[in-house]
Amino acid sequence: MREGLIIKGYGGFYYVRTGEKTWCCRGRGRLRLGQNLLTGDRVQFTPLDKGEGVIEEIKERKNALPRPPVANVDQVISVVSLAHPDPDLKLLNRSLVLCELEKLSIVICFNKIDLIDSSQAKDLEDIYRKAGYHTVFTSALEGRGLEQLRQVIAGKISVLSGPSGVGKSTLLNSLDPNLSLETGEISRKLKRGKHTTRYVELIPLCDGFVADTPGFSSLELPTIKRTELGRCFPEINEFAGQCRFYDCIHLDEPDCEVKNALEQGLISRARYHDYKQFMEEIISKERIY
Ligand code: GDP
Ligand code: ZN
Repeated sequence: MREGLIIKGYGGFYYVRTGEKTWCCRGRGRLRLGQNLLTGDRVQFTPLDKGEGVIEEIKERKNALPRPPVANVDQVISVVSLAHPDPDLKLLNRSLVLCELEKLSIVICFNKIDLIDSSQAKDLEDIYRKAGYHTVFTSALEGRGLEQLRQVIAGKISVLSGPSGVGKSTLLNSLDPNLSLETGEISRKLKRGKHTTRYVELIPLCDGFVADTPGFSSLELPTIKRTELGRCFPEINEFAGQCRFYDCIHLDEPDCEVKNALEQGLISRARYHDYKQFMEEIISKERIY
């Protein structure tokens, strides 16, 4: 038997990658009969002739995302456009919260650095480094920052997230010119009309794998406890344990170390502002249910 990674499932066949080779496999027994195999599953399979094989067993999953349906995701790369369209930091902060809730590692990729001044980039870098996030700055168009992005992708299974137009497809193409993914919203919309059903596929790229479909199509915050939100902001979480009240939500409580850290500039105002807004959302949901 051999071990491999399912990079695509389609019509009862599973494409299993081992090194540079892809095997076309079916599942045996219960695996064929609907015990669901997912893209991203690591499996044991029996190789047959002509690059075919039979999957015998799934190895235990570390996680499984619903959208896109991928198992064993190592990280989410959140792509943000620095200009055209302007950076949507509220959306970024929201997707960071969702990743924290799922306990997924996150890398923030600020793309289109060719369109802004370096001082603007520095401000963003400060905000997110201070929050404890790994950031890379790229220009898919000019090929800048691609080496850092390669290092992020190597050896891991990644899902790119970010709204359309931020440059996700252009980035992947510039990392591997053989990919030639469709870029630009209009050409993709024309194509999508023809292919109504979508299967998620892991693209082998830079010694790692990247899902071909972006993550987090819905960014509504789930119903969580008030105190859980602070844990989804690493820089708030760092101080939360020192507040006077164990259930402090860092709004107007006395002796709140998070508010102190904010006053001292250790927490960015922009990030705290979104924390407050997300808290309001969570509280308004409590009133409905
Ligand atoms: P996606 O929807 O996130 O996959 O975005 P696309 O890859 O389709 O890119 C959207 C638009 O942004 C296209 O017109 C790209 O040419 C452009 N674009 C992508 N990356 C860059 C970049 O680094 N700099 C500039 N100036 N434009 C970019
Ligand atoms: Zn507090």
